[in-house]
Amino acid sequence: MEIEPCIVNIDIPTPSSALIIIDMQNDFVHPDGKLFSPNAKKIIQPIKLLLEKARKSNIRVIYTQDTHFKDDPVEFPIWGEHVVKGSWGWQIIDELKHLNTEIIIEKLRYDAFFGTPLEHILNIYGIENIIVTGTVANICVLHTVSSARLRNYNVIVPVDAISALTEFDYSLSIRQMDFLYKVKFTKAELIRFQETQ
Ligand SMILES: [Zn+2]
Repeated sequence: MEIEPCIVNIDIPTPSSALIIIDMQNDFVHPDGKLFSPNAKKIIQPIKLLLEKARKSNIRVIYTQDTHFKDDPVEFPIWGEHVVKGSWGWQIIDELKHLNTEIIIEKLRYDAFFGTPLEHILNIYGIENIIVTGTVANICVLHTVSSARLRNYNVIVPVDAISALTEFDYSLSIRQMDFLYKVKFTKAELIRFQETQ
């Protein structure tokens, strides 16, 4: 089945929007990482473009950082040990380093809302629109997008700024985000941040 999302230009209102960068950490994106996914390298540049545009427009940037402690009983049996807090693999990749003023959500599970202050942070800043980027498309990206849509946030996904291990996994993610959640799809270069007020 061919999955062709409808790609549109998006104007993002600045005060009520945030850019979310999911799990762009060494263990997932760097070739020496424990769960390296080669396709993740392709999304660094599109995310960097968005990050630069967001910083220029004072759009709030929120990073998620998958975080586990020794012997995680839920994920390590599935994936093996990865992103152990404090390790090199846990760190955000150098190409997308966060500023000290940007928010980092340490998350223990695929869904960035689960057991974290993400919803609280979005609420206190009046964020209604979130641009979701990062990896892995059918795992942490999809779970976070689903969780955001269940809470009725507007979700925008630049298709060139998410990646998966296989083409099937990528297509599955797009299909679920489209069919179940009516996410708006775009590309990094087609997002403009509008100044309002
Ligand atoms: Zn994990």
